[in-house]
Amino acid sequence: MKKSDSLPSSAALQAAHLIERLGRVLRAGDHATGLNPVQAEALRYLGRANRFSRTPAALADFLGSTRGTVSQTLLALEAKRLIRRQANARDGRSVTLALTKAGTEYLKSDPVRTLAASIDASGADARLAEYLGATLREAIVQRGGRTFGACNTCRHLRRDQSRGAAPHYCALLQEPLSDIDVSSICAEQQDGPQVRP
Ligand code: SF4
Repeated sequence: MKKSDSLPSSAALQAAHLIERLGRVLRAGDHATGLNPVQAEALRYLGRANRFSRTPAALADFLGSTRGTVSQTLLALEAKRLIRRQANARDGRSVTLALTKAGTEYLKSDPVRTLAASIDASGADARLAEYLGATLREAIVQRGGRTFGACNTCRHLRRDQSRGAAPHYCALLQEPLSDIDVSSICAEQQDGPQVRP
């Protein structure tokens, strides 16, 4: 019998219900800031994604949503002056998305930061993040979605301190990467051992 076929323990079930409740509380917090939960999630994504992944298509994959739904979300965020579209330097036929100053300010008082402060205070931050990350990845893979990992865990990352202002490099996209890029999430990320240059 597979592990997923067996009945979960009552503690595991309670933890799953608590996570679901926590999500509901966060979504209520989003409404209180004047955004619907999908708009708030899109804004958070744009605050965390690297420059290759701030596109409408990658956002749709991240949200597990259709391009049409994402288009409506982006129109609403543009109307609120929280994001802007700009020409994609890598592909002139598409656009990239960027936070405006107001969008960046919004994220400074994001309800998620309040939750992060509580987790910080509990002292369970690193272990909890690792556990929830693995659980989320499993749930996304089971649904055939993309997992969007952090650049600094990707097998395509090359670290090269001799490059000065851009001390890292992406072997897949063949682009230089800054320290900020490396701590961002990416649509192309693939877990695996990194190759030393
Ligand atoms: S190294 Fe991996 S995660 Fe980083 S930009 Fe390249 S593909 Fe994306």
